[in-house]
Amino acid sequence: MKSEYDVVIVGGGPAGLTAARTAAQAGVDVLLVETHKEVGRPLLCAEGISGEGLSRVVDPDEDWICCRLSGAKLVSPNGTSLYIDHPDAGFVIDRTKFEPHLARMAVDAGADIVTNCRADDPVCDNGRYGSISLHSQGSSRYVQFKVLIAADGVESVIARKAGLVKNLLPSQLASCAQYRIEDIDIDCGTPEMYFDCELAPGGYVWVFPKSSHSANVGLGFVPTLADGLNPFDMLNRFVSRRFESYRIASRTMGIVPHFEGRRTILKGNVMAIGDAARLVDSLTGAGIATALYSGQLAGEVSGKYIRSGKNSVLRDYPRAFMSVFGRKLRMYALAHQIFRRMKPGEIDAVLEIAAEMLGGRTIRSIDSIKVIRRILMRKPGLLRMTPRIVWK
Ligand SMILES: Cc1cc2nc3c(=O)[nH]c(=O)nc-3n(C[C@H](O)[C@H](O)[C@H](O)COP(=O)(O)OP(=O)(O)OC[C@H]3O[C@@H](n4cnc5c(N)ncnc54)[C@H](O)[C@@H]3O)c2cc1C
Repeated sequence: MKSEYDVVIVGGGPAGLTAARTAAQAGVDVLLVETHKEVGRPLLCAEGISGEGLSRVVDPDEDWICCRLSGAKLVSPNGTSLYIDHPDAGFVIDRTKFEPHLARMAVDAGADIVTNCRADDPVCDNGRYGSISLHSQGSSRYVQFKVLIAADGVESVIARKAGLVKNLLPSQLASCAQYRIEDIDIDCGTPEMYFDCELAPGGYVWVFPKSSHSANVGLGFVPTLADGLNPFDMLNRFVSRRFESYRIASRTMGIVPHFEGRRTILKGNVMAIGDAARLVDSLTGAGIATALYSGQLAGEVSGKYIRSGKNSVLRDYPRAFMSVFGRKLRMYALAHQIFRRMKPGEIDAVLEIAAEMLGGRTIRSIDSIKVIRRILMRKPGLLRMTPRIVWK
């Protein structure tokens, strides 16, 4: 590790590893530090990603694709189910292999990656950050940079210290609990999503197949709506109803942040990407695709900035990211604000409308903004549940 880099990236998830690759491809000196011993572990994810979200940034590779999804099953609170026939919908991947794959691409492009190394305390001088302290195996040192990229996930110490985001409030996140379930029989092409306000208030329960005999089965809920319920008790209730026999191979818990707007992603020479910037679909909790794309752009823009020396270039990052994802993330956040206030009967009614739009035929691509708009037009009363949300 050198004492000075053009770009320092904190965090080796999909966001940071992609930023490391594209910054290195742009010909600048890059260091990525990851606090865990290996990238991709421990796993805190259901590992589902849309085909479009993945292919925008990385070519799908059989080495880390577990299942190709050809549809989805949505189940409403009264038990009615809607099957969406959507060939090429996406994938369930193996992130313990996916992230090492991204790391290899970054290293091949010329990035330095150091694992087992924790970063904290970015130092600001005259309004600009210039160095950061790194801790590894009992020793600490400062490394200098021109651009700092916070890719340190939902806890985002770096993004918080640099003033990009604040501490998450319980109402601004989903708490998640998940099992890896083995010894089951399941359709490998069809993920299942159950909207059950008792088991997952403000969220849903998912079954994402990993093979025809195993799945990630979990739930996410808004803690302020759950009244002290134990997430694993809720998950146990679901699993014993859904599967006749099964084996729990592992369990995990995690947090998904809700989207907060564009102000969270750039401040001076610090960029935040992925979960660190809260770039998550608040409705489904999906954040891998946005992590990959924000990482790709942040790396590319850092390279352009270093070569040009013009501060204004850094603003290309929020501009380019929001031009692709801004409307969607805002619409999902709005829809989630409504969804979390809906009663079971209202969710049943919305799924009926979705069934009219998406059921009984093959769908090649889903325009989710259009779907949400049409539901709101059919049920304008739902809009009364909208709080005043202002995004900068
Ligand atoms: C239970 C659960 C299920 C989910 N399922 C899905 C899903 O199916 N599909 C989907 O799209 N999204 C899903 N998500 C969300 C998804 O996991 C995240 O959006 C995604 O991982 C964000 O990527 P990232 O690179 O921004 O952050 P992360 O993947 O969280 O990576 C951040 C990295 O930074 C490292 N780090 C943190 N602090 C430091 C530090 N100080 N120094 C050095 N390194 C540091 C961490 O160790 C970590 O490796 C799920 C989340 C949860 C909790």
